Amino acid sequence: TGTLYLVPTPIGNLDDMTFRAVEILKTADLIAAEDTRHTQMLLNHFAITTKTISFHEHNTQMRIPELLTKLEAGQTIAQVSDAGMPSISDPGKELVHAAIERGVPVVPLPGANAATTALIASGLSPQPFLFYGFLPRKTGERQRILAKLATEPATLLFYESPHRVGKTLAAMLEAFGDRQAVLARELTKKFETFIRGTITELQTYAENELKGEFVIMVAGAPDKPVVKSAAPFKDQVAAIVATG
Ligand code: SAM
Repeated sequence: TGTLYLVPTPIGNLDDMTFRAVEILKTADLIAAEDTRHTQMLLNHFAITTKTISFHEHNTQMRIPELLTKLEAGQTIAQVSDAGMPSISDPGKELVHAAIERGVPVVPLPGANAATTALIASGLSPQPFLFYGFLPRKTGERQRILAKLATEPATLLFYESPHRVGKTLAAMLEAFGDRQAVLARELTKKFETFIRGTITELQTYAENELKGEFVIMVAGAPDKPVVKSAAPFKDQVAAIVATG
């Protein structure tokens, strides 16, 4: 059988492409790409002439049997997403699952990823961390998940689109109380910025129209519960009694 390679691509800075990633993309029989036109620009930059085939969230189920047939016939397929690690808030996991089930070797390459890149410069505890990815858009679902995460001691990592950062921070303040948090903006790009502070402080920054790509990181739950300023007086007293 062939091999399924999972190949990370840059999250902004083309120099973050690894030598091995270029080599695998050059020698693969086929590149399964989230957006073939987007990937073609990367391939052109690195003089890679390998054929591409579209593989995205809307054609995953249709493509998997086709790709498995090629893999079982001995072909090497490299899967890429638009940016960063395939499968991390991106297409890929169903293909990986199907390849494993059929006994096709799956080989991951290390490389660019927004979450871990943001985490190591955040100043927040890097261990343990919990990568959530994108929160659901529906208010109720989002609140339910944030409520569950409120007691999680691990540093929390989220992806979010720029126009929702403000709303998401407000929902986090409501669910977690005011904690240390960090916004990592435009990682590896010209306007890379880290905004570190409390959730309330970050909200002042997010009041303006935000542009670019963002990772939101929030400190894990403190050992002793913090008293939310909005809590009714009797709950505040109860919390003070509970924490001594
Ligand atoms: N597969 C990618 C990875 O490994 O990081 C993530 C893809 S996900 C569809 C896109 C989200 O990742 C963005 O909305 C943003 O939250 C985050 N992201 C991607 N590139 C980024 C960058 N250069 N700076 C900050 N966040 C980024």
